[in-house]
Amino acid sequence: AKALGAANTTHYDPAKELSTRERNQERRHMAKGLHNNEFRLYYQPQVNLKTHQVIGVEALIRWQHPERGLLPPIEFLPLIEGSELEFHLGEWVIEAALKQLVTWQADGISLPISVNISPQHLLHPGFMSQLKALLAAYPAVLPHLLSLEILESATLDDMQTALEVLKECRQLHIDVALDDFGTGYSSLAYFRQLPVQLIKVDRDFVRDMLESKDDRAIVESIVFMARKFSRPVLAEGVETMAHAQALVELGCFLAQGYGIARPMPADQFPGWLANWQAEHR
Ligand code: C2E
Ligand code: CA
Ligand code: CA
Ligand code: CA
Repeated sequence: AKALGAANTTHYDPAKELSTRERNQERRHMAKGLHNNEFRLYYQPQVNLKTHQVIGVEALIRWQHPERGLLPPIEFLPLIEGSELEFHLGEWVIEAALKQLVTWQADGISLPISVNISPQHLLHPGFMSQLKALLAAYPAVLPHLLSLEILESATLDDMQTALEVLKECRQLHIDVALDDFGTGYSSLAYFRQLPVQLIKVDRDFVRDMLESKDDRAIVESIVFMARKFSRPVLAEGVETMAHAQALVELGCFLAQGYGIARPMPADQFPGWLANWQAEHR
């Protein structure tokens, strides 16, 4: 993994334990899986804890593997980091989200979907033309319903390119969220320049904020800074009511986490939404 932050160092990285030959074989399996339409997007709701409004969903990739079952991204994304396959799988993700927006629009659901874009995908020279071609292929989708989640570390790898890409996204009316904020060590001066519309507090800080004074202080500082720079802030990894309460006390109202809803297949989302709206009327 490329991320600099301590928050990511505990992640198991299967790519590290494989020989080149094994990795190439795994990549071929993934390419075949992509061809056979075995990848799925799951959707996790994002809500406002104060108003109970659902503000959008995050798309999270899964691999419905014919033998190994439903695989989470940590099992396969590291294997294709920096490869052309990553570029193509990334394209599949954006297109799948656009198709989903068309479907939900027909069902009367008009909520933004945010997709995760890997650093290498974002910084790939073909990224903007790929994105524009996809938007052109789905003219019924309002571009502001698609948003991108990018890692803070991605913007640090190549600041100039990242800045240009993000500015172009703005011109297309696509929102950008800075994912895992707090793990990438960008300076305030740099952060100020970034055209991002949402800041996502990494779930590791949120998870430990009730026990750890330090983590609570980090969350508090991010919320404070976001407010100073007039950016909304969303906490991920909200697992319990106690977390939600602590966040509201700090002035962080946007949230996502198992305590609200787990990521779910697209066909379960309309039912979840109706239920949530009935409960919070
Ligand atoms: P992320 O973008 O930080 O996504 C949040 C992760 O936290 C997701 O894991 C989600 O299922 C999980 N999560 C949500 N709420 C909670 C909670 O309350 N507690 C806990 N413990 N976890 C929670 P997931 O789906 O396994 O994805 C892991 C990472 O894989 C994502 O982290 C993202 O970096 C990457 N990823 C997922 N889908 C895509 C994709 O389509 N493209 C790319 N490039 N990366 C993806
Ligand atoms: Ca994300
Ligand atoms: Ca995140
Ligand atoms: Ca994370």
